[in-house]
Amino acid sequence: MQELNEKIEKFGTVLPGNVLKVDAFLNHQVDPELMLHIGQEFAKRFAGEGITKIWTVESSGIAPAVMTGLAMKVPVIFARKHKSLTLNKDMYVADVYSYTKKTTNRISISKKYVSPDDKILMVDDFLANGQAVEGMLEIADQAGVKVAGAGIVIEKSFQPGGKELRDRGFRVESLARIKSLANNQIEFDKD
Ligand code: 5GP
Repeated sequence: MQELNEKIEKFGTVLPGNVLKVDAFLNHQVDPELMLHIGQEFAKRFAGEGITKIWTVESSGIAPAVMTGLAMKVPVIFARKHKSLTLNKDMYVADVYSYTKKTTNRISISKKYVSPDDKILMVDDFLANGQAVEGMLEIADQAGVKVAGAGIVIEKSFQPGGKELRDRGFRVESLARIKSLANNQIEFDKD
């Protein structure tokens, strides 16, 4: 997505540990117009899939997820993140290791907002090692809902998450793919 690549080129900075900082437009200050276009693009790519809900994880996934829900006219659920959470019969839970924070969070979704007829689209800001998507997939499995795939704003294709998911036949649509962040240079995958 050209508009997104241009934003990354203009505002993205590289932090140690292969972390791309995009807090000028995605996960601190948010560019609403760009988010709207991202939501419209996911809606276009997943049109006709019968999606009933968007799932994401708080907090950085919420902006693109809400715009996707708006474009698809379906509700959005963001899994809550907790340092620790005792198991609760009213919640589905999974543990997710955070690549950027080097901690494990328990994510949860209330059973109240999940129906067995749901078909989910997962949306997230980044795909790196795939832990966040795997956590949501674990919850989808517990809930017995169908999953259409994942819409990712920025995939770091030099990390294994995207390949592992696609190799299992899981559909992943990324709007920007970063091939390398070596030497503080942002290099895009052009395919
Ligand atoms: P994964 O679970 O695929 O390893 O990583 C995805 C999650 O980690 C995303 O939800 C995102 O919040 C965070 N993340 C991973 N890599 C980056 C990065 O390079 N920059 C930022 N800002 N967040 C990242």
